Amino acid sequence: MKDDLQLQTEAVKQRRINGYGSTEPIDVIGLLMAQERYTFIRLPMTDNISGMCIIDGASKIIAVNSMMSLGRQRFTVAHELYHMEIECRGQGVICKKGSKTDSEKEADRFASYFLLPCDALEWFIEKYGVKEWTLEHIVRLSQFFRMSFQAIVYRLHQEEKINDLRYHELINANILDNVKDTGIDMSLYMKSPEEEMEKSYGQYSQLLERAHKEERISDSLYKQFALEGFCDERWNEMVKEALIYD
Ligand SMILES: [Zn+2]
Repeated sequence: MKDDLQLQTEAVKQRRINGYGSTEPIDVIGLLMAQERYTFIRLPMTDNISGMCIIDGASKIIAVNSMMSLGRQRFTVAHELYHMEIECRGQGVICKKGSKTDSEKEADRFASYFLLPCDALEWFIEKYGVKEWTLEHIVRLSQFFRMSFQAIVYRLHQEEKINDLRYHELINANILDNVKDTGIDMSLYMKSPEEEMEKSYGQYSQLLERAHKEERISDSLYKQFALEGFCDERWNEMVKEALIYD
């Protein structure tokens, strides 16, 4: 298993490749869309699956579970990027929640460093003079770097910025209850809106959306292409395994 330093270095290198430094928030979904080869898909998947990825010919496909919060979806995209860009696992991976394989653990650590590099965390601590991590600090950090509350709490615990007791208090806190009246953007903590629950993005998707809009293909064909149009048998099997319904 790779150590943290290796994963941090790989995360910062991947940020550089994509035009990002080591302290600013990253638009991880926009980054996929900026690359012609990527297709990004949101699908309502079963509870235990966070996402999956595959390379099919010239296409790289990343799908995330739209039933999870947007913050969690963004984390999953960064996690899948690790499988694709660092491990080069083109044969297809389904990522299950709580999986303890080295590859899954590495992808999670990479995702955390990719979205929030150590330099960025230190910058935040200095800017806000953080001595004790309050709920307000954590929400602000989560909003700024567009990460889920849990991913931030987990990271702070890993870096020994909060102790075991504080970790358990925070990880079990009901974030929605705590922030609902504060005027902040709640979308980060909520699943995709209904119209984006099952949707694909990217060059291939644009052509498909246009064909559908202009009524050149039927609803059922559109759906079949959107979910299974990548020809690859392995992808079709993965979609069948992941989908919340048949
Ligand atoms: Zn994975």
